[in-house]
Amino acid sequence: MRRWWRYLRTVIAVTATAAIAITALAVALLAYPQPLFAHSMTHGQLELWSDVPFDEGHAKRVLDDAVERINTSPLPLDGATHRVFITNTEWRRRLFFLPNWQAGGINHYLARNVFIGRADIPNNRLSGDHGLVLPPRTLAYFIAHEIGHSLVGGRIGLVGNKLLPTWIGEGVPDYIGFGGDVDIDELTRALVDDKPEMNPAKSGLYARYRLLVAFMLKQEGWSIDRLLTSGLPLGEAEAILRKQMGARPAT
Ligand SMILES: [Zn+2]
Repeated sequence: MRRWWRYLRTVIAVTATAAIAITALAVALLAYPQPLFAHSMTHGQLELWSDVPFDEGHAKRVLDDAVERINTSPLPLDGATHRVFITNTEWRRRLFFLPNWQAGGINHYLARNVFIGRADIPNNRLSGDHGLVLPPRTLAYFIAHEIGHSLVGGRIGLVGNKLLPTWIGEGVPDYIGFGGDVDIDELTRALVDDKPEMNPAKSGLYARYRLLVAFMLKQEGWSIDRLLTSGLPLGEAEAILRKQMGARPAT
């Protein structure tokens, strides 16, 4: 019995130590991934890191585009350095995007690090699993969207960020990614007509959430802080939109 107990204690201790070590390694990797990205440049408040060489002139144009989108939003750059890591090789993408391998970008806002999938920097495009992603979701859009998550997190903190309703948590970064360029009338029509692109679960797009954020900020006159701290459920936000836009209620 004692021998069994000693054996069990050893197994528990080894397992716990291994789990702690793996977690610490993963946190260190997400916070300091630079050694795995050989090529980099600094441009204003942004750093661009890549696992393959890139032309700095092309990269500056993409970063300028992303910064313009961010700085025309209600959450401009906050003075911190934001690092963008382009993961072209498959193993890096799988490592940093775990467990969401299908995403175009991913954010670790506490370290101000964002990770973007395979990119065609000269053409300002992201390369998805089915070829280049079509505009308007350019590479600059994905970078601005992911940095938008960092800016939201910086504004309301870790807990506030975790508690955000999905439509605000994704809608605000998407609004930032689009540089606030949202056609509220057109997207409301698409919502009323139940167009596939307005279904985030099926389309993988955030147009429904982007519309609601644009509506609350631009037409209802909400401040970004009011929106981020409102906790307003999706259904209530849509009910306000449909009422104000004269659209029929959801069935
Ligand atoms: Zn997002």
